[in-house]
Amino acid sequence: MFKRVLIANRGEIALRIIRACRELGIETICVYSSADEGGPWLEQASQSICIGPGPSKDSYLRIERIIAAAEIGHADAIHPGYGFLSENAHFAEVCRDSGFEFIGPSPEAMSMLGDKVNCRRLAKKAGTPIFPGSDGGIEDVDEAVAVATEIGFPVIVKASGGGGGRGMRIATDEKSLRSGIEQARQEAQAAFGNPMVYVEKYLESARHFEVQTLGDKHGNAIHLYERDCSSQRRHQKLIEEAPAPGVDPARREKVCESAAELIRRANYSGAATVEFLMDKQQNFYMLEVNTRVQVEHPISEAITGVDIVQTGIRVAAGEKLPYQQSDIRINGHAMEFRINAEDPARNFMPQAGIIETWVVPGGPGIRLDTHARVGYRVPPNYDSMIGKLIVHATDREACIRRSLGALGEFKVGPIHTTIPLYQRLLQEPLFTQATHDIKYVERLLVAG
Ligand code: ADP
Repeated sequence: MFKRVLIANRGEIALRIIRACRELGIETICVYSSADEGGPWLEQASQSICIGPGPSKDSYLRIERIIAAAEIGHADAIHPGYGFLSENAHFAEVCRDSGFEFIGPSPEAMSMLGDKVNCRRLAKKAGTPIFPGSDGGIEDVDEAVAVATEIGFPVIVKASGGGGGRGMRIATDEKSLRSGIEQARQEAQAAFGNPMVYVEKYLESARHFEVQTLGDKHGNAIHLYERDCSSQRRHQKLIEEAPAPGVDPARREKVCESAAELIRRANYSGAATVEFLMDKQQNFYMLEVNTRVQVEHPISEAITGVDIVQTGIRVAAGEKLPYQQSDIRINGHAMEFRINAEDPARNFMPQAGIIETWVVPGGPGIRLDTHARVGYRVPPNYDSMIGKLIVHATDREACIRRSLGALGEFKVGPIHTTIPLYQRLLQEPLFTQATHDIKYVERLLVAG
């Protein structure tokens, strides 16, 4: 097992990783930016090293500074968390070449799955359902039109190297496809250094369904079932739940197994999430694979009892997965609420500043992953998420009731948070009946 792990991240996920390391008897080194000076999670690390000023590009994204900190702190492994450099294959490679184990997949597996065209090809072989669309990259407009005519409009043009919701374009007819494709290629080249684009069917109404998987370096892979993340605004997830409500058990088994098979074929080690859209008939179409631990991993931990972060560290150290698929069972229902420092009443305006009131919920089935506390200053530089409330109960109805109680207990001020929005969403018939799709939050917000 590792002796000292450097955490190339901040906030709640840094704290989550520190806790996992502590239980494994591993010391931790946190790197931080000057905007995070005095951050509460740093107190919990064995050592912390400042690597630059507030802007991420000058600190959390500076590979050479992180590697230098790992050398100074005598780390033997580096955990990237989520966001920042977590899906940067070059970073994973530099870690390896500098003699530090990267806690995550090999750079090869990461590049393979991170490239959407390659990922689609591998998914096809693994039996993971994908959107109907082009076999590989699209070279010219006529080819795109031929594919679109075959699968039917609307279609979406996507950059193979794309990410973060960028480099996508919806085409409803031949004309918009013809004008869109060249622009998409140029944009993809400029944004991702790779002009390759492809075309797939565009689904108008869908739910977001994602499968948590874990792989090791010995060719084993399992899944921890799925999460439904259909409560989104601008492609940002707000509420996640596990398992996905109302999904046919046989279909669930099949798609979850296909996700584990994809990870196995990619020789993937660590935690990965295979994301899908699900249509009304419960057909699944793969969106992409996230090659890191995700923000919403705790709800899968809640319903399966598997510590995903700890298992990720153990497999990175060369251990075999401590579970077989048959060990994994769904127990109850869990929901996660992302507590964002944003004001939902004012178009989600980001809220920076000092937290003066921080009264947190408790009781059975309540977990709060947060780095915030009274006196904590929310810096303006980073993601607005200041905590995650995770609620576990025997079934979905009980989980909703327990969540409403917990959100009611949760008092934060003077900065505003997304808590009132969740109190409202939990009472929306679309949500309570689980007939919502990925656009319902935006539609509700527009309706006022
Ligand atoms: P990125 O890597 O940029 O996040 P994704 O492939 O995950 O790209 O897509 C981002 C979002 O765009 C999805 O969550 C979904 O809302 C929408 N989207 C992507 N592909 C499709 C599609 N074929 N049909 C409908 N919506 C799509």
